Amino acid sequence: MNAPVHTSSLFRPANRLSAIGVSEILKISGLAAEMKRQGQDVIILGAGEPDFDTPEPIKDAAERAMRAGATKYTALDGAPELKAAVRAKFKRDNGLDFTQDEITVSAGAKQVLFNAMMATINPGDEVIIPTPFWVTYADIVQITGGVPVLVPCSETNGFRLSAEDLERAITPRTRWVMLNSPSNPSGAAYSEGQYRPILDVLLEHPHVWLMVDDMYEHIVYDDFRFVTPAAIEPALRARTLTVNGVSKAYAMTGWRIGYAGGPNALIRAMAVVQSQSTSCPSSVSQAAAVEALNGPQDFIRDRRRSFQERRDLVVGALNRIDGITCRVPEGAFYTFASCAGLIGKTTPEGQVIESDTVFAQYLLRTVGVAVVPGSAFGLAPYFRISYATSIVEIEEACQRIAGAAAQLS
Ligand code: PLP
Repeated sequence: MNAPVHTSSLFRPANRLSAIGVSEILKISGLAAEMKRQGQDVIILGAGEPDFDTPEPIKDAAERAMRAGATKYTALDGAPELKAAVRAKFKRDNGLDFTQDEITVSAGAKQVLFNAMMATINPGDEVIIPTPFWVTYADIVQITGGVPVLVPCSETNGFRLSAEDLERAITPRTRWVMLNSPSNPSGAAYSEGQYRPILDVLLEHPHVWLMVDDMYEHIVYDDFRFVTPAAIEPALRARTLTVNGVSKAYAMTGWRIGYAGGPNALIRAMAVVQSQSTSCPSSVSQAAAVEALNGPQDFIRDRRRSFQERRDLVVGALNRIDGITCRVPEGAFYTFASCAGLIGKTTPEGQVIESDTVFAQYLLRTVGVAVVPGSAFGLAPYFRISYATSIVEIEEACQRIAGAAAQLS
């Protein structure tokens, strides 16, 4: 999935990096950005962040905090005011009661995940990751010495993990299962009924811990009702880490604040890792996150409506293209469309579309549209479109994709 880390006669990377490297996602976005810089007309549908700006009241809170002197180190894994805001959020949105010492705050949800794996993984420990998946999961597991166990989730099962596949993947070495709903890259989400059989399997295997990534909680469509496993099955709470953050819901990717709620012993171990990496998240960003979580939430609804309009546009346009089919995602701002119907076809220049990667390269080269091949997320032949961009760009991009597909024979 990744290109190897660069090695030269002078530089030799650590062994822990041998299996990981620069992600395919960054490679294709880098190439597209370079083409754009050279003046080519390129539409990049790869963004992993909302195109909206951080709401003004959140910026104001950061400014006020800075002026009031909140410019020093804070408590190690989150200032008390932010931990209180996170607790209130878990109670309000998820019906979860955490004590203050069951909450951790880091520089993004990514660091929360990193801390959790660093704090728990011994060499050879296995972590079950349903695919398609956010590549970071497997890379973090590998950096920390674990073994990612990838379990393919078919489109016919809505890209969701089945209880049978989970049961088969669990071994005595399994340490964690990672679930992400709504998902990056598929946009698929689990309802309470869809989670239930999975949680029942976990109840039978007390040595397995559950990491749930609820990052896209607030970006769900139609009448989908978001739920999180710790709220569905209290018996799993003692071994569940519920991860979330302000990046996507509040358009705060650059502020770098993520958080989690989980058992105190795990939270304490994660704090040890954080103490020797970043010390604490940015003080100013923490003040902004307090405002995000405690302040008015109504703009989330408006933004959700706007994302849904774009989702409907993309899904409709893709499904009208011969050779492409696209499932309707329940959430996030991604579609994960199949290009199975185009595999084996030939471009006007005589190149065979052998894979989703070749298809993505063909789109970028011939019509200047950058999408990410499904194989970068562990499931082919698909491609991910991020629709966190303007309607005008989405319409133009879909027309170009249709034109490129029509050229294949
Ligand atoms: N979880 C998922 C599923 C994501 O897609 C992302 C970002 O793309 C993150 C977590 C990272 O969030 P943060 O910005 O808080 O590190």
